[in-house]
Parts: sequence; C-alpha cells; structure tokens
Amino acid sequence: MIFEILVLGSGDACSFGGKNQTSFFIKTDKKTFLLDCGPSTLSELRRRNINTDKIDFILNTHMHGDHYGGIPYLLLDLNINYKIESFLVIGAEGIAERLNILQDLLYPGYGFEKFKFKMIFEELKPYQEINVDDIKIKSYPMLHSAYSYCFGYKIEYKNKSFAYTGDTGWTNEIINLSNNTDLFIIECSYYNKDIRNSHVSYKELLENINKINTKNILLTHLSKDAYDNIDKISHAIAYDGMKIFI
Ligand SMILES: [Zn+2]
Repeated sequence: MIFEILVLGSGDACSFGGKNQTSFFIKTDKKTFLLDCGPSTLSELRRRNINTDKIDFILNTHMHGDHYGGIPYLLLDLNINYKIESFLVIGAEGIAERLNILQDLLYPGYGFEKFKFKMIFEELKPYQEINVDDIKIKSYPMLHSAYSYCFGYKIEYKNKSFAYTGDTGWTNEIINLSNNTDLFIIECSYYNKDIRNSHVSYKELLENINKINTKNILLTHLSKDAYDNIDKISHAIAYDGMKIFI
C-alpha cells in the first residue's frame, strides 16, 4: 500500500529558517494531491520533477496567502503546459469565489472562464466528510481567522490515517482531530508567545500533550520565536523534502 507525504513547504508565512511556505504532496496507490499550496509550491514541484498534471486535486485548510496563494500559478501552469479536462479544489465555503478573484487580480482578464479545463470546487462545512476515490477526508473547525473557516483535516486511506491542523490557536478541536491517528502534523508557530485564537505555542502543546492521541507528532510552520528557542524543542520538526511513509 502507498500512503506517503512529501513535505514541499514547512515554513511559516515569512519563510523563517529558509523554508518554503506550506504545502504537502500526498500520494496513495491511485491518487496524488496537495494539502495546501503556498506561493513557493510550484517551484518546489519543479525542483522535484513532479508535473502539475500528475496532481489530482488540492485540499486547502484556509484562505491565507501562505496556504493558498500558490494555487493561481499551479492553475496557470496546468492551462499553459498540459491538457487536462478538469481540476478539483476542496476547501472551506467561499473558496471558489475567492480563488477566482485572486486569479483575476494576478492575471487580469485571465480568470477561470478562460481556462481550457473546467474548475470543480467542493466547499465544505465544519465536520463534513467527503470521499475522493477511497481517500476519506473530514474537516474540523480550527481557531484562526474571523473572516473564513479554517479547517484541520483528518485523512484516512485504507487502515491508516493522519491529521493536519492547518493554522490554529489552541482549541479542544486539536485533541479531537488527533484522535486515533498514525501521524499528527501540528502547527507550532511559537515557542512560548501568547498568541491565543491564532497560533499554537510549543508550551501549549506540552501542557496538553497527554490528551493528544496519535502515534507520531510532527511540528511545522515554525516562526522566528520558535527558531530562537529551537534547542528547547524536543519533538520532530518537518523540513522541506522530508518524506513520510504512513
Ligand atoms: Zn493562516
């Protein structure tokens, strides 16, 4: 069975540590998809010789630039360089409208209606489950932005699963999201800064560590504050190019 994650981007919005903005390339036996697509995603795919027409869909956690700002370039590449019939983007309510506006802002007059392929959107509500082929995806509402839903996702394939928080402040939903997973990827923007309702600190994670129910914890999205204290962080930290077999 193939169920793999290639970390394309493990950095925060400001790319501290010289890391790309958020993106994970997920591969199963039959499907591949991106979990988030920050602005540096397409260049990292090119470096790794992964053509965009080999990506079946994008799953987006939330509409902040470092998590979805790379989608227009990926779509542009698909339109110019490949022949596909349709492309699926899954995200929170409003993503179809917001992405169309973003595409037109970056390339005026070159919105989705000009594409040679059809754009398909699945807009999710909190706790919604969908299946793409035999991949099961469930959205969990996180605590991050007042302007749109921010989701963490639990992703199951065959008898294995992983979850990813996206961006979030500390909430009990983090504990629910982690439940019974083989791998839990959690944002850890800060070491000890009090950024409630927005991002997680390593101190908060340690305070709640006994409630997290997963086989492996992987930290991502570290900011300057976390890097300044990196010698005090004892959990695994994602890096660009990291490959994980679930
Ligand atoms: Zn964010």
